[in-house]
Amino acid sequence: MHGEQLQFGDDEHAIALQRTWDRALHVLASRVNKLTLESYIRPIRPLAFRDQEFTLGVASPFAREWLDKRYRALIASAIESVVGCPIDVRFQVLSIEDRPVQTEASSVQPDGPKIPRNSSSKQSSGRRCASNQSVPGLPLIDRYTFDNFVVGKTNRLAQASAVAVANSPGSIYNPLFLYGGPGLGKTHILHAIGHAAQEANPEARVALIDGETFTCQFVASLRERKTEEFRRKFRSVDIWLIDDVQFIAGKEATKEEFFHTFNALYQSGKQIVIASDRSPREMRAMDERIRSRFECGLVADITPPELETRMAILDRRCSVEEWEVPQEVIYYIASMIRSNIRALEGALTKLIAYSSIMRSPISVDLVQSVLGDYLIEKPLPGQMRKGISLEIILAAVAEQFKTTTEVLRGQRRDRPAVTARQLAMYLCREMTGTCLAQIGATLGGRDHTTIQRGIARIESQLKIDAGLQTALQETRNRLDR
Ligand code: ADP
Ligand code: MG
Repeated sequence: MHGEQLQFGDDEHAIALQRTWDRALHVLASRVNKLTLESYIRPIRPLAFRDQEFTLGVASPFAREWLDKRYRALIASAIESVVGCPIDVRFQVLSIEDRPVQTEASSVQPDGPKIPRNSSSKQSSGRRCASNQSVPGLPLIDRYTFDNFVVGKTNRLAQASAVAVANSPGSIYNPLFLYGGPGLGKTHILHAIGHAAQEANPEARVALIDGETFTCQFVASLRERKTEEFRRKFRSVDIWLIDDVQFIAGKEATKEEFFHTFNALYQSGKQIVIASDRSPREMRAMDERIRSRFECGLVADITPPELETRMAILDRRCSVEEWEVPQEVIYYIASMIRSNIRALEGALTKLIAYSSIMRSPISVDLVQSVLGDYLIEKPLPGQMRKGISLEIILAAVAEQFKTTTEVLRGQRRDRPAVTARQLAMYLCREMTGTCLAQIGATLGGRDHTTIQRGIARIESQLKIDAGLQTALQETRNRLDR
């Protein structure tokens, strides 16, 4: 099957694609627990297999994040065992029409964070979005409220402007543009605005959507000749919250549609809030006219929080979940993981799970043995390690893998080349804090999403592959010399 091109829509290939996935499902059935299988894996729809990348459709951004974080490596290996060659897995959120019908089981969260089940108090907003077709968008996540958001120096401006916008939509900062690295709370703030605005005015039509879902829904509306309906839906909202807007940057037709929706809402005084992993200036693939619209309101950045804030975030999480964790453990985790709150919370969740499964008390020793090296960011003097450049990292990775930097920058897709290249991506981010687009440019002009996927892949492989852990440590040692 090497190099085979499969694409959904082409009948014969669609059948082959489905068959491949069915066989992979069979493999997966013996490797994951029943709840995960039924809730998350069985509802997946295979969408495409192209350039050794297998695209799987999932029902929600939450499912995507969850699967991506926990099951990407396992699913990839199951598909690899069927197709017989190395592949990458990518998850894509299905448009609403393409989603499988939700069963009771598929709304259960297995062992994961208790996120989007709607509690009775917030049910109104969540369910309304799902059931009332006239307000488009995704349900608001209960936990993402201003109450649960810890404010520190590095997110104060973003939080304060978000609160102001939720209290008086359309009048002070419009649009509000939030940007910052992954896992710093952008999505949390957007949902919090949605909750607060809805609470202040239950009549307000709040629509939250991420760039990827917006794209999917727009493309589906083109396919089904329902663009008018799509347009009407989005242009009738009072508060428009757009997450991960960078996703639409390279997509011409979607970008155009976005621009017109933006203008229509803006001109009628509706509140628009945008979140992105880049500032308007850094979004080169976005047209100048859109970028200048983004900048005409308030642009607020979020940077990694300080130690006290990181500890407060962990403390807050422990009290919400009623976990008892010694302060020295909180301090230890918070001092090790500095640039991503998602990783910070992930470390805590993993620790709690281990301690209850293994019945061992939560201690610094347990953190060290459970979390290992990969979750712990290397202590860096300041943000950057002096004297380290992307080029030096590539050279060290090439040396470690007995290959050349040309191979790292090149197009070879065999397993050793891909692994070495992805490890280089991972180290470049870890050691230099350079943005993904820049890492991509250094690695032979790759797109930032490729870098993101490469890093995610290494992160999940590191959990199961001792050889890779050793290679990573040895490469770091080379760089330390
Ligand atoms: P982003 O959208 O910027 O990638 P998220 O909003 O998804 O990040 O945040 C990642 C995780 O970190 C979420 O679980 C969120 O609740 C949590 N988080 C981020 N910032 C804070 C904060 N200041 N206080 C409490 N939790 C936070
Ligand atoms: Mg986000």
